[in-house]
Amino acid sequence: MAAQETVDHKYVYDFSEGNKDLKDLLGGKGANLAEMTNLGLPVPPGFTITTEACQAYLATGREPDGLAGQIEAHLESLERAMGKRLGDPRDPLLVSVRSGAKFSMPGMMETVLNVGLNDQSVVGLSAQAGQNDRFAWDSYRRLIQMFGKTVCEVPGEEFEHALDEIKNAKGTHNDLDLDADDLRGLVDAYKKIFLKHTGREFPQQPREQLDLAIRAVFESWNAERAVLYRRQERIPADLGTAVNVVTMVFGNLGPDSGTGVAFTRDPASGAQGIYGDYLANAQGEDVVAGIRNTVPLQELEQLDKASYDELLGIMARLEEHYKDLCDIEFTIERGKLWMLQTRVGKRTAAAAFVIAGQLVDEGLIDLDEALHRVNGAQLAQLMFPRFQLDHEFEAVAKGIGASPGAASGKVVFTSARAVELAAEGESVILVRRETNPDDLNGMIAAKGILTSRGGKTSHAAVVARGMGKTCVSGADEIEVNVPAKRFVVAGQTVNEGDVVSIDGTTGKVYLGEVPVMPSEVVQYFEGSLDAEHVDNALVRAVHRIMTHADGRRRLAVRTNADTGADAARARRFGAEGIGLCRTEHMFLGDRRELVERLILARDADGREAALEALLPLQRADFVEIFREMDGLPVTVRLIDPPLHEFLPPLEQLAVNVAVAQERGEDVAKEEALLAAVRRMHEENPMLGLRGVRLGLVIPGLFAMQVRAIVEAAVECAQRGGDPKPEIMVPLVGAVQELETVRAEAEKIIEEVTREKAVEVLIGTMIEVPRAALTAGQIAEAAEFFSFGTNDLTQMGWGFSRDDVEGAFFWRYLELGIFGISPFESIDRDGVGRLVRIASEEGRAARPGLKLGVCGEHGGDPDSVHFFHEVGLDYVSCSPFRVPVARLEAGRAVVETGGSDSR
Ligand code: PEP
Ligand code: MG
Repeated sequence: MAAQETVDHKYVYDFSEGNKDLKDLLGGKGANLAEMTNLGLPVPPGFTITTEACQAYLATGREPDGLAGQIEAHLESLERAMGKRLGDPRDPLLVSVRSGAKFSMPGMMETVLNVGLNDQSVVGLSAQAGQNDRFAWDSYRRLIQMFGKTVCEVPGEEFEHALDEIKNAKGTHNDLDLDADDLRGLVDAYKKIFLKHTGREFPQQPREQLDLAIRAVFESWNAERAVLYRRQERIPADLGTAVNVVTMVFGNLGPDSGTGVAFTRDPASGAQGIYGDYLANAQGEDVVAGIRNTVPLQELEQLDKASYDELLGIMARLEEHYKDLCDIEFTIERGKLWMLQTRVGKRTAAAAFVIAGQLVDEGLIDLDEALHRVNGAQLAQLMFPRFQLDHEFEAVAKGIGASPGAASGKVVFTSARAVELAAEGESVILVRRETNPDDLNGMIAAKGILTSRGGKTSHAAVVARGMGKTCVSGADEIEVNVPAKRFVVAGQTVNEGDVVSIDGTTGKVYLGEVPVMPSEVVQYFEGSLDAEHVDNALVRAVHRIMTHADGRRRLAVRTNADTGADAARARRFGAEGIGLCRTEHMFLGDRRELVERLILARDADGREAALEALLPLQRADFVEIFREMDGLPVTVRLIDPPLHEFLPPLEQLAVNVAVAQERGEDVAKEEALLAAVRRMHEENPMLGLRGVRLGLVIPGLFAMQVRAIVEAAVECAQRGGDPKPEIMVPLVGAVQELETVRAEAEKIIEEVTREKAVEVLIGTMIEVPRAALTAGQIAEAAEFFSFGTNDLTQMGWGFSRDDVEGAFFWRYLELGIFGISPFESIDRDGVGRLVRIASEEGRAARPGLKLGVCGEHGGDPDSVHFFHEVGLDYVSCSPFRVPVARLEAGRAVVETGGSDSR
């Protein structure tokens, strides 16, 4: 290599210099091309320009010092290896210039093929290809088209229009019917378009073409669709893309050439076997764009057995090497197989579980690794319902089940309309002939995507799978007419706004809305499917991995439930107790009347009478819950929201009173209620008379609840049960508040448990920042803490939890102030720090203090990892998230090297 490189920062790596672990520097494509090169697989020679070069370019607007020289040196060495020069008029070396970021961003960034072709070398290329003029001119027109569009922003439609014109003139729809002369004419037409839009001739200097193409790939990192995709997939904005310069190989040199994509297992179901698409006499872009319909890869065996066998051998080798599902792109040039790309393939949630289980069986990975390879988001996706189908629903079309799930919605034909209707709260299905990267917005907005063309590896399929969105591709019975906003299927016309249902597992399309049924995974968790006996690879894999997660996790998982039914369901889902039983619903419905009496009571007697009437009702609620959670802890939280929430709204009441007065009716009671509502009105009720404050202000309220809890526990224990009640005081900010409640509660507990001993713990929520910061003091009066991260986030950030997400979070997300709402996933640095401080100081004051979390974050995968790291004892979440939390709690152990962080 050039001497220069020893002094310059290294920006360019030959494929033989890299490896698969250098994704940060070489991008995914470059790192894996290097890995395959080093495995001795047939990779066209080339080199990779690093992400660092891209970052430097994007920061300064120019190529970093030394880059040009290093490219020159690597190009020379490539030319030496190939025995050809870039763009040589007689025997040209041609290269492709391909983007490749650390994380795959399918179709989001740019690629330019056939760099090195010009008016002279097109003749050399024809000679090289056995006097194949047609091929040479087709390659040249593709270069001008891609280069024009990508590098110089010439509108792509203009090229397409010119192509259509030539085809129309010939009376054909098929590119392959165009001969060399047609294509030569097309090159002229393309050059004119290029000149018109750029004010310059199409560049004839090969090196200039190369440099401009590299620069365009760098810049495509910041293309609008790439930015949007990164935001959606939470890919950091500052990574930059690498650029791969690869010797061109041609799949469009005739029937003994072709191109394809393949998976080493089915990326939809995880089933073992060879899955892929092949397209003879075509270039790779034709397959990915879904422009022509492909044939199943297996048909290659008949077309070219030697290449097929070699390919299968390479696929087996790659799987064993990567120990995972790989997806690959390959080209066959006149019977010679070339590997253009491999990577660990994207897969559906179901396939992730099934494949992880299979790889354990095959001895390639252990169960810890299997656990690491699946995640809670995937599990949650598998718990989605599916269509409930009976004879009434007949599919009108069947395409490819490209991304599973069941989706119904109104048909739309453009991305813009999808966005518009979704913003109005409609469910929409985006229907296209095929999608392209410009459809990304619409795909994000839609519930599902339906295309009439393209296979499992088409743009629509790949992107939808990545998003976890339902997709049916290649439903070719559907004739899509975008300008007319309709499609026709089985003689029926479906217009924009009509409802269709698509099944991304079977590929079936239905007219109208199809009802849905629960997932098999939910049935398994519910206990109605027995994993040991059922012939269902997914259920067996989920069972196996969940069992391992349970064995590995240190965090217990409880549930937030306040009815017996929810408690029972959560227990079937694996909940090990209740972490939060909110008692406020117990004050609603037909009990409102009693609450009104409580609020309106003029004296202690009236109040006590109302509380006495509430007591047996509350007791019965708790008995039911203790019974369902027998033997497991149940944390019951004393009433939290302001009492006026249980009264009618002020405006409504005022109108009722005014109307009744007008009619001369007796409104004494309503007037008293109205006066109470006015008296209790607060500007900021979330920061007002609620939680412990309410308990201290309304005499007897908390006492009644404590009595109901303890009496219920005693009743259960007397019947032979094993209740484990924990009484939790909400919204505590100072230890004195807790001490006051505690003193009163202890008396009641003492009195009630005289009949039958039951252990009752008293603890508090930590949800006011002051409580977190004085946790050492509070722990003196608490046997447990449960972090109320909803309020802690609200009060830590000063964000009203009821308003801000709709009001302005979109802007904060857009600006990257946070990547995800702090109400959804714990803000580790701020709110998380409060949790950490309170945990440490609480435990320092009271060793053995039990710590849990019961805010929404208890079921959020990333937050579960944080709570594991902080050393909490349990997380508590809604019943449906219990399996997700179990899985993530196990993954947290595996990912921290199996350590117990406490
Ligand atoms: C919390 O604040 O996190 C919590 C669990 O309580 P609630 O959501 O009922 O305010
Ligand atoms: Mg709260």
